[in-house]
Amino acid sequence: MRLKVLGAYGASDAEHNLTGYLIDDWLAVDAGTLTSKLSFAQQARIQAVFITHPHADHIRDLPHLIHNRFSQNAAALTVFASKEVMQLLTDNVFNGIVWPDFSKLISPLTKVPAVIYRPMTPGKKVMFNEVGLTAVSVHHQIPAAGVIVEMNGQAITFTGDTGPTSEIWKRTNKTPNVVAVVTEASFPNDQQSLADETAHLSPNTFGDELKKITVDAPVYASHRKIPFERDIESQIRNLRDRRARVLLEKNYTL
Ligand SMILES: [Zn+2]
Ligand SMILES: [Zn+2]
Repeated sequence: MRLKVLGAYGASDAEHNLTGYLIDDWLAVDAGTLTSKLSFAQQARIQAVFITHPHADHIRDLPHLIHNRFSQNAAALTVFASKEVMQLLTDNVFNGIVWPDFSKLISPLTKVPAVIYRPMTPGKKVMFNEVGLTAVSVHHQIPAAGVIVEMNGQAITFTGDTGPTSEIWKRTNKTPNVVAVVTEASFPNDQQSLADETAHLSPNTFGDELKKITVDAPVYASHRKIPFERDIESQIRNLRDRRARVLLEKNYTL
């Protein structure tokens, strides 16, 4: 599968972008960066987006993706998230104040709503376009769930933001043909207390998580905070595990 990393940082400036991934041009994971890096036509090709949690850096472009869909003659966009995350999104974002509840509006072009919300039960696989999506809860400051994507005989795990966790590793270890794991290392090792307090990983705790992962696939650290990206990169390298990498904003073929 092809993984387009549109945003691989936990902060943004002119050269670094918020979390947003696109698989085979039609399935997105998190929406910190989608519309801001994709043409109108590319946006119309996105059929589904999975949201790990409602922190603003993971949903910044989601309302714009949905809003644009109302002027595209394209199939409805399906938004997947765990039940708890979906509830937070409808209560706090698509609440009729910050943004409309788009799911109740009819598109003038397609005569159906341009977005469908699909809440997921963590641990239960959902099929969409012959792709398996399993939401798995992780440990963050607010309800959050990563996702295991199974597509064309390959699998990839995205944790989204998380501190030390376990269930998603157990599930990943049992999943056939995992070709990549995308997790995080937000802060450098000398900011471990901030990482712990905000339920994120540092390279040290990323290294502890690596020991729980038994699959032989690259494990990428995303969501680096911009001023510390080089420190984090060298600390990841110092773990001396050949699977450990930092995630870059580029296209990967897996
Ligand atoms: Zn984040
Ligand atoms: Zn977060």
